[in-house]
Amino acid sequence: MTNKTKIKLENISYSYAGNKAVENLSFSLPTGKYLTILGPSGCGKTTILKMIGGYLYPTKGKIYIDDKNVTEMDSCSRKIGMVFQNYLLFPHLSARKNISFPLEIRHQPKNDREKKVDEISELVGLTKKEIERKPSELSGGQQQRVALARALIFEPQLLLLDEPLANLDKELKTQLLNEIRNLQKTIKVTTIMVTHDHEEALSGSDLIGIMNQGKLLQIDEPKIIYEKPSCSLIANHFGQANILPAKYFGLKNDATVLIRPEKIKINLNAINCTWKNQGKISSILFMGSHLLINLMLYDGTELKLLTSDSYPFAVDSIITIGIDIENVWLIPETI
Ligand code: ATP
Repeated sequence: MTNKTKIKLENISYSYAGNKAVENLSFSLPTGKYLTILGPSGCGKTTILKMIGGYLYPTKGKIYIDDKNVTEMDSCSRKIGMVFQNYLLFPHLSARKNISFPLEIRHQPKNDREKKVDEISELVGLTKKEIERKPSELSGGQQQRVALARALIFEPQLLLLDEPLANLDKELKTQLLNEIRNLQKTIKVTTIMVTHDHEEALSGSDLIGIMNQGKLLQIDEPKIIYEKPSCSLIANHFGQANILPAKYFGLKNDATVLIRPEKIKINLNAINCTWKNQGKISSILFMGSHLLINLMLYDGTELKLLTSDSYPFAVDSIITIGIDIENVWLIPETI
């Protein structure tokens, strides 16, 4: 069941009045999975969601939901729940009315609507008192819950989240993100969220898609994105990275490699490594659970090391380092 493809995009492009916003983008997402599309402002994330939601039609390419070609189907016929960055709640209606709106336009009987509103409100963490208030009488987090409840109440095939947490403070963001993820797992709704915050992308996504300038650079599990990025742009975006010429390790001449700082072994731990070297510590940064050490090798190469070792490291002292060749990732592309 979970291996079934819920949504597939095939060579999708979109241009606004001749200006390319999304270019030749393809991916598929299995049923029940949570994909986060990550990329800088203006890279085309919202445009993708709008095409999936049926608010924009691709200039080129096809969109399939449950193997059905929906490319030219209007948004109302697609059964997709969407939460926007600014929630887009009706200001003159109570939260209850906002949440039940999708059921009203689908002409569901009042009793059923009320029952469903109560159920979904509880699920997203809204109290009975809160749902009787208007959006202006609710906090940002509560409004976000109302928007989420409204998107979920008609049991959508797909849930689309367009930076739903962008207006919230960091603590609330983390809490709500966890709640959304748990909720998504409970009701098993296939979800696509877009964000430009890589911490948000890393917390709990089954898959991450990285975009830049209208193109999808890589789509993979978070661990793969971190350990085996398809380009140096991604390598640098996720955590600390050492990017060195591949020839340093006797590999392909013009390519570069990634070595994550926590993969570099130090002193006694380096003894059995396939590649060894020595260098001088140029700085040490205390980061709570570990130290970030900047090291200068004899040939002038700079490396970052992350260690939780209790050894008394000191600036200007010489240490031996070692890298196992399986921790050297040859970066396939050069952007
Ligand atoms: P953000 O993170 O800032 O929301 P985004 O990645 O979601 O950005 P999009 O909103 O998809 O990016 O926009 C992609 C490109 O298309 C941008 O260059 C943007 O300026 C352009 N664009 C978006 N909407 C329109 C529009 N209605 N008319 C013309 N150009 C547009």
